[in-house]
Order: sequence, then structure tokens, then C-alpha cells
Amino acid sequence: MHGLQGFIPQVALPDDWAADALAFPFVDRELLVALEAPAGDNRVRVLQYEEVEAMHVEGRLSIKRRQFLGTLGGRQAYSLELEPFAEAPSGLGLHNLRRLVPMLSHDHFWLAARAVQIVAWDRDHQFCGRCGAGIEVHGGERSKHCGRCQLTVYPRISPAVIVLVERGDEILLARSPHFLPGVYSTLAGFVEPGETLESTVRREIHEEVGVTVQNIRYFGSQPWPFPNSLMIGFRADHADGDIVIDGVEIEAAGWFRRDSLPKLPFKLSIARALIEAFLAEG
Ligand SMILES: [Zn+2]
Repeated sequence: MHGLQGFIPQVALPDDWAADALAFPFVDRELLVALEAPAGDNRVRVLQYEEVEAMHVEGRLSIKRRQFLGTLGGRQAYSLELEPFAEAPSGLGLHNLRRLVPMLSHDHFWLAARAVQIVAWDRDHQFCGRCGAGIEVHGGERSKHCGRCQLTVYPRISPAVIVLVERGDEILLARSPHFLPGVYSTLAGFVEPGETLESTVRREIHEEVGVTVQNIRYFGSQPWPFPNSLMIGFRADHADGDIVIDGVEIEAAGWFRRDSLPKLPFKLSIARALIEAFLAEG
């Protein structure tokens, strides 16, 4: 999977912001964006840092913390943590990142996905988890260091495998109770401490649908900011066993042929890319 191209991550706040700097201001996990005319067209624009700073000075919103993300195609990008407000300033809207998938450009969505994790990490790590002292961003890297007990903390990333299981010209898709109605997807699960990715693939598939797999092949990876996963994609072949769902994480699962697919996950997702790769071979 392609990452965010033309992006150079940086940490130290520049002395001054550039006139065209981008801003990703969040209230919790919701991004503040400009609503573009015509209203109701679902079109939004990423704000410029200057605009947000001006609203802060005017008292229309309040910036609590600022982080520098780096540059995208030479353009500065900042993430901002805002104090909650009762209503978004006029002409602006607060949206959950998931809802913004179809409304933002590819680059801006993936930069927002990075921003929301940096904002949350900075907010949630104001104090040392070991000794309780206040901690600060450390040097030139994205970490915080405790001067009292020397603990260093980095943004947490939770690796998870996502797997397309194949059996001849059929693929195994399943649905979790929190999916949109009718949508089926590939199986996924978090890596546990001490596991290899291949062990996670075998364990998760067996736990969720009762089958065993073989011939596990790496496919690609994708950051997934809900809340801080890194999805590591694999394709695998069915080895043995019939589908027996766990009934908790999975409420339905089945083998699907190319010509009888259910509703699929949205286009930007690695789940969709895995399925498309299989379809392209048919
Ligand atoms: Zn400490």
C-alpha cells in the first residue's frame, strides 16, 4: 500500500508558521474543517494554520496544545488540540475522521490520520506513567522523556493482522456486529505480546471462524487511526476445517465467489485492497 507520499515528518515546532501552513485541529477525535459551498454538498476543506490562529486570538475557539507534523510537498502541517466548544464557529464543522474519508483528498485524510494520533498521544502523556512527574517532548524525535526517572515514551501503535483467506475461487468474508448493515470483510485481530505475525494470523482465523490456514503471504500494510492500529495484510490459503463462528466478534461468515460478493468495505481500506487483488486475478 502507498503511504503518504511527499511527506517529511518533523517534530520541533518551527519559529514561525508559513502563510500556507495546514492545520488539523481536533476536539477529541473530531476534526475541525471548513465547509465548502454549496452547503450540504459534503465538501470540506482542511483549514490553514493562520485561520485557526486568528480564531484563537479572536476567542472563537481555544488552542490547548500544538504539534508540528512536518511538511507535505514542502507545506508545513500542524496538529492542534482544541478546547471543546458548544458549537463550531460559523462556516466550520466538526467531523469524525471516519465520516471524512470520502470528503478529503487522499493525502489530507492520511495526514489527518497521523495528526489525530499525535494529538491524542500528547494529550494522554502529560505525566510520567511510572513516577507521575510532568514530561516534555524530547529532543528532535517524537517521544517524551521523564527527567526524574528517565522513562521515555513513544506514541503507541497497535499492530493488527488482516487476512484474506482463499479456497480456490472462493474467499472467506465475515461480519462483525459493528459493521454497517450487509457489509462483509476480511478477518482481523491484534497481535499479542510475544507473537509473530504469522502466529497471530493462525490464531485469529482459528478463534474467529474455526478453520486452519497455510501458505501465508505478506500483502502490504496500512495505518488505521481508529484509534492507533497498524494493519498488516496477508493472504492465506484454507488448509482445513469448516466455518464455525465465535458468535461474539463474528456474527456471520461464509465463502463467497467472485460473482456473488456481499457489500464490501470502503475503497480506501486495506481490506478492500486485499479483496480487489483477489478479484483482479479472476
Ligand atoms: Zn518518571
